[in-house]
Amino acid sequence: MARVAIIGAGFAGHTAALYLGSILGTRHDITMINPSERFLYVPSLVWVGVGHMKPEKTRFRLQPVYDRMHVRFLAGKALEVHPDERFVVAEKNGAGADRLVRVGYDHLIIATGPRLNFAATPGLGPEAGHTHSICTQAHAVESRDAYLENVARMKKGEKRKLVIGTGHPGATCQGAAFEYITNIHKDLLRQGVRDKAELVWISNERAPGDFGVGGITARHRGRMLTSEEFISAVFREYGIAWHVQKGVLEVDEAAIHWEDYDGGYGETTYDYAMLIPQFTGMPLKYIGENGDDVSAKVVNPAGFVTVDGIYGRPYETTAGDPESWPRVYQNPEYESIFAAGIAFAPPGTISQPHVTPNGTSITAAPPRTGMVSGIIGRVVAMNIIDLVQQSPMTHGERMTEMAAACIASMGDSLWDGSAATIMMYPVVPDHRRYPNEGGRDSFVTQMEMGLAGAWMKRMIHTTFRHKLQGRVGWGLIPE
Ligand SMILES: Cc1cc2nc3c(=O)[nH]c(=O)nc-3n(C[C@H](O)[C@H](O)[C@H](O)COP(=O)(O)OP(=O)(O)OC[C@H]3O[C@@H](n4cnc5c(N)ncnc54)[C@H](O)[C@@H]3O)c2cc1C
Repeated sequence: MARVAIIGAGFAGHTAALYLGSILGTRHDITMINPSERFLYVPSLVWVGVGHMKPEKTRFRLQPVYDRMHVRFLAGKALEVHPDERFVVAEKNGAGADRLVRVGYDHLIIATGPRLNFAATPGLGPEAGHTHSICTQAHAVESRDAYLENVARMKKGEKRKLVIGTGHPGATCQGAAFEYITNIHKDLLRQGVRDKAELVWISNERAPGDFGVGGITARHRGRMLTSEEFISAVFREYGIAWHVQKGVLEVDEAAIHWEDYDGGYGETTYDYAMLIPQFTGMPLKYIGENGDDVSAKVVNPAGFVTVDGIYGRPYETTAGDPESWPRVYQNPEYESIFAAGIAFAPPGTISQPHVTPNGTSITAAPPRTGMVSGIIGRVVAMNIIDLVQQSPMTHGERMTEMAAACIASMGDSLWDGSAATIMMYPVVPDHRRYPNEGGRDSFVTQMEMGLAGAWMKRMIHTTFRHKLQGRVGWGLIPE
C-alpha cells in the first residue's frame, strides 16, 4: 500500500486529492492535512469585500468530499517535513496531548499557497498595519466592513479617497486587486455615491494591464490591442486614476510611501486602502535524518519549493524559454516531494524586471492563478498515480503550455454587471512557437468587455464549486 500525503487543500492540493482519492483511495492511503475544515473559494472574496456575497457562500466542508473520495482528512497544520525519513509532523486542531502526529509518506505534495508577508512592508495589512486585504475570508469581511463604513460617510456628504493595488515592490495578484477596484466602482455607482469617491490604482506593474504576465496583445474588434490600452481605457471610463511603476515601501495612518522606477520617492494619501502584500512560501521546517536543517535542498530563500525548472538564469533567457519552466513539479533533491500551486518556486518573472537607481527591484511577481494551480495539482497527482502503479511519469505541463482566463467582474449582477475577460495562451510566452506574436497564440489570446463575462464569472464560480465538491461528472470539468 502506497502512502501519499498532501499539505494544503487549496486549488492545487484539493484538486490533487480528488484525483488521487478517486483513483487510488480504496487501495492506498491518501492523507490531506489542512488547517481549515472548509474549502475556501478564494476568487469570490472580491465579492465578499464589497458586501455582495455572504462569506459562507465561498466555503464548503471538506470532510464529506473526502469521505466520498476515500481521502483521510487531518484537520491541522503541518509543521515539519522529514524528507530523508519521509514523514510529516502535523499539529491537529483542538486541544489534547496527542495533537502532534506523524504522517508517513512515499510521495508528498506541498500545496501550501502563499504566506501573506505583510511584515515586508511596514504599516501594511489589517493586523499590524493600516491597510486592508481580501486575501483571506477574515480579511475580506474586515475589508467589507471598512469599505461600507466609508460608503456610509460618503452618503453623509463626505469625500473619501480609496486606493487599491499592490503593497510591495515585488507583489503579484494584480488581477484580484483590479477586480476589486472595478467592483468598488460599480458598487459606488449603485449606492449613489460615486461622485464622492476618488478611486486610485497603485501598482508595481510596468504598465496598467501587465498583471505580472508582461501584459498581452490580442485581437479586439478587428485590430491588435495591448492590455495596457484595454485596461487604461477601463480606468478612464470609470474615472479611476492610475499610478504604476510604484513599489510601496511603507504605509502610515495617512499615506502610502513609495519609490518609483526612476528612484524617486513620493506618497499617496488615502482614507481606505486595500493593498496586496508580498507573497512568500509558507514556512515549514525541513529536517534531515541527523536532525539538521535541510531547507536549502527543498526551498529557495523565499520559502518556495524548488522543482524541475532551471533556476538562476537571467530574465532574457528564462522568459519565453519553455525549458526553464518546470514540467512535473518534482523536487530534484528529494524525488518523493512535489509542489503544486503557489507553493512551487518559479524560475523567474514573466514581467520584465526593473531595478531602480537605488537598487530596489520593482517587479510584478508571476501569478499562479487558481486555474494554473488546479492544472499543476492534476499533473502532480497523475504522475504520483503513475509511480504508485509502477510506471514512469507520463504527465507534464509547463506554464508555457497552460492557458489562463482572467475574468475581472465589474459588479456581480447578471443583468447589468460586466466583466473584462482576458484569455491568454500560453501564460508564460513561448517565443519559439509564437515568434511574431509576442510569444502568445494570437488566435486564442483575447480581450473582451461585456455582460457575457459576468455570466461566465458566475458560471465558473458554480461549476468550479461543483467540481471541487467532487459531485457527479467533476472529472469532466477542466481545471
Ligand atoms: C481575492 C483574490 C481573488 C482571486 N481571483 C482569482 C480568479 O478570479 N481566478 C483565478 O484563477 N485565480 C484567482 N486568484 C488566485 C487564486 O486564488 C490562487 O491562485 C489560488 O488560491 C492558489 O491556490 P493554492 O492551492 O496554491 O493556494 P491556496 O488556495 O492559498 O491554498 C493553500 C492551502 O494550504 C493551506 N496551508 C497553508 N499552510 C499549511 C500548513 N502548514 N499545513 C497545512 N495546510 C497549510 C492553507 O490553509 C490553504 O488551505 C485570486 C486570489 C485572490 C487573493
